Amino acid sequence: MRSSLTTVSIEIAARPSRRRRISVLGATGSIGESTLDLIGRNPDAYEVVALTGGCNTRRLAELAILHKARLAVIADERCHADLKVALAGTPIETAAGEAALIEAASRPADWVMAAIVGAAGLKPTLAAVRQGTATALATKECLVTAGHLFMQEVASSHTTLLPVDSEHSAALQVMADTKHDLIESVCLTASGGPFRTWSRAQMAEATPEQALNHPNWSMGPKVTIDSATLMNKGLELIEAHHLFGLPPAKLDVLIHPQSIVHCLVTLADGSVLAQLSCPDMRTPIAYSLAWPERMHAPTKRLDLAALGGLSFEAPDSVRFPALSLARAALAAGRSAGTVLNAANEVAVEAFLTKRIGFLAIADLVEATLEARADLAAVAPSTIDDVLAVDGESRAHAKTLLGRFASRGASG
Ligand code: NDP
Repeated sequence: MRSSLTTVSIEIAARPSRRRRISVLGATGSIGESTLDLIGRNPDAYEVVALTGGCNTRRLAELAILHKARLAVIADERCHADLKVALAGTPIETAAGEAALIEAASRPADWVMAAIVGAAGLKPTLAAVRQGTATALATKECLVTAGHLFMQEVASSHTTLLPVDSEHSAALQVMADTKHDLIESVCLTASGGPFRTWSRAQMAEATPEQALNHPNWSMGPKVTIDSATLMNKGLELIEAHHLFGLPPAKLDVLIHPQSIVHCLVTLADGSVLAQLSCPDMRTPIAYSLAWPERMHAPTKRLDLAALGGLSFEAPDSVRFPALSLARAALAAGRSAGTVLNAANEVAVEAFLTKRIGFLAIADLVEATLEARADLAAVAPSTIDDVLAVDGESRAHAKTLLGRFASRGASG
């Protein structure tokens, strides 16, 4: 997919009759496990090339054995010895470190799932894209931090890019074959997270355990915290802008606590098209895996009568300022998304390790954006420029942690 909807109905090469070669970056995570669950149900159809993990050596080795992977790569080099021991006596090759991740992503494959959490996924995902491997993109941070350059790489390598986020998958399903200028708006839905009805005072006291208790979705910790702050929906607006080539004014967010309707697209004739499914990431993953066809997914089927009703409400930007920060970064362009994302990654990590309070996540992001307007204004011309801004933003955000330590709320 390129940055325009005119290319949503992309031609795809004929499906090979041999088993499809699959790699999963971030195999040990929530998305990685869901992907491998689908693949494991039909082992005759797939051949697993490479699986990668961050530091969970035990699970990576189990998955590599279970799915007969050719290569298992662990990002943290200190874990390589354990991985080798765990895979001793198997034909599975092992490697560790960033260069090995990139090499794994570059191995010839027909489809790769990009599901490494955070900007750490940028270089490996780009490696897959540059190979021209059809890429299912879960790592939204790639587009938030390097949007234009990332999409240029997708276009120049003629790679098929398939969104995995349920909202963007829904948008693709709904908008495919619709002319770009007939789309009036795309509205991404958000569950509202565990604190949807909480006051700011209550959120100031929120613990990581409470924030990780998402009402509808079972996900990795970083995206779960992003869902609680609504930063996730902000990141998704930026993602949608780059994926679909839509201006910010055509992108909107609606709170939908049941997480059944994933996206609403308004067309020029007043029609509103939506995609509905139970909240289970195996549905959008299956869509990206089978695309342009469809496949069976073992998910719960929707029973609207049992559900009784679907509700919608506008997001509250006072209680959830992260959404406004992301919208401002989207409007500002250049490197604002890079700074926002880097500061958010630092803040989420600090919250999870109880160094700052819940409300301080957005405060820290805002303070970093204010303090480093110089970085946000950089117009990056290479991925190295993006990574330099990312690194400086992280370093700056860390210097601000003390200001927000144990404070929780900004008053
Ligand atoms: P998880 O935290 O569950 O998994 C992250 C994966 O990345 C793990 O395999 C982890 O390895 C690996 N990893 C962590 N740090 C590094 C690193 N520095 N280098 C290489 N690998 C690393 O995350 P999710 O699966 O929830 O999310 C992955 C991405 O998908 C995120 O960008 C998220 O926003 C997006 N997404 C997730 C959804 C979900 O339902 N989970 C929905 C939509 C999008 P290890 O296990 O060894 O730590």
